[in-house]
Amino acid sequence: MNKAKSPVIIAIDGPAVSGKGTLAKALADALGFACLDTGATYRVAARMVLESGGDPADERAAVVAAQEAAGAMEIDWLHDPAIRTEAVSRATSKISVFPGVRDALTAWQRRFAADPPGGAPGVVLDGRDIGTVVCPRADFKFYVTASPEIRARRLIQKLQLPADEVTYDAVLADLRERDARDSTRESAPLRAAEDAILVDTSGLSADGVLGVVLAHIRQRRPDLCR
Ligand code: C5P
Repeated sequence: MNKAKSPVIIAIDGPAVSGKGTLAKALADALGFACLDTGATYRVAARMVLESGGDPADERAAVVAAQEAAGAMEIDWLHDPAIRTEAVSRATSKISVFPGVRDALTAWQRRFAADPPGGAPGVVLDGRDIGTVVCPRADFKFYVTASPEIRARRLIQKLQLPADEVTYDAVLADLRERDARDSTRESAPLRAAEDAILVDTSGLSADGVLGVVLAHIRQRRPDLCR
């Protein structure tokens, strides 16, 4: 029987503002793959908690919202700027510690990877636990990092915040807090999969990072890089 080929899966993990989202989009464009920012699925659920007046630290409210989000998810919701506010960011890292939240959203992410929109031949997923939990058998795994100081400066630029020391200190502290929460939570903590390729983006441009990653892919799967 001629079974349809499963999509090629590329997992990109790393902390906030490490450059993984930019890389994931550029890589998906370069390869003609679909792209999923899994952080956005957590953000959609966190936004639902806040909008219903719930407390993101309340496990029951968080799990109900994640199940609702997973049951009704529309691709447009993942691109809504309203999920990018600092309030939603903070709420997101709170709800993402709950196993029930992770189970619901992981299931949705796996369905997306198994059957990407538009019948794309592959999919790039970026997040915190793609190579370790969501798609442990991904064809390629990359773990993208950059120093917290560089990430703080990038975030200030991205959010167009004032370029003063007070803002820098606050943004850096907030990033470190999010990193600590993401790396120390019991359920699917942020960490590199043992078989992930490490990419430090600190001294690289977005194009430079894409070049490094494409070179790895070309080495093993030249057929994917036309
Ligand atoms: O990637 P982004 O910063 O948008 O993710 C927002 C939050 O969602 C992260 O701080 C993290 O707590 C959570 N997240 C997660 N697992 C993923 C993606 C994101 O726990 N795969």
